[in-house]
Amino acid sequence: RIIRCGGCAKWYEVAWFRLSINAYKDVYNLVREIDPRDSRCNQCFLREHGLVAFRRHLIAFARSLMLDALDRARFQVLYGWEQLRNDFCLPFGDFANYWAEYGRSIVSDFPIQGENLFTGPFPTIHQLDELSRRYTLFKIFIERIYQGLRPVRQTILDSRSNEEVMSTVMRSWFRIWYEDYHLYDRTYRRLLDQLKWIEEHEEEVVSYALEVDPWGPESYHLEAEVEEER
Ligand SMILES: [Zn+2]
Repeated sequence: RIIRCGGCAKWYEVAWFRLSINAYKDVYNLVREIDPRDSRCNQCFLREHGLVAFRRHLIAFARSLMLDALDRARFQVLYGWEQLRNDFCLPFGDFANYWAEYGRSIVSDFPIQGENLFTGPFPTIHQLDELSRRYTLFKIFIERIYQGLRPVRQTILDSRSNEEVMSTVMRSWFRIWYEDYHLYDRTYRRLLDQLKWIEEHEEEVVSYALEVDPWGPESYHLEAEVEEER
């Protein structure tokens, strides 16, 4: 996609602008929704507002993209946990019989607080480590169930076979979560690292956006303009 710059009137790829995430998502809003300052290509914005303002605007933009990606990765990490909390829930969850032996250690005192797991502060590395530990326990539980060492259900009221119960629990989407959990976990951690990198390397991000070698002779020196910032 290309957009015409409101400053130099040239057409550029969207990457030369700093569009809001919503503008990226909806191509039809691309022109109408653009903040007037966003309709300037990077070079024009820099010329009109100066390096300090450009850096501030660019870093906020880069962070907004990362936070959006992080939000989606958080959902991938956590949606199976939402299901698990119900499965072990007393008295009617599919794994309720195993609350004492397994469920308690897997889902009680859950490291992420609140009714809704998908809102609120982003989980920290520490919380992710704790989830990883619990995931390993859950995996052990599942392996034991599949090995047939213990029936999932023992009550006479429930006439379903172990296989039927497991196929209910392991619905396609949950199976994907179960099998790909480490992938989601790694993605989330990598995004957290990248967000941190952006926040600690503003000068490199600016150079990248302006296609300047951050270590070359023409690199911009941000400190030179800091005093003008208000
Ligand atoms: Zn321009």
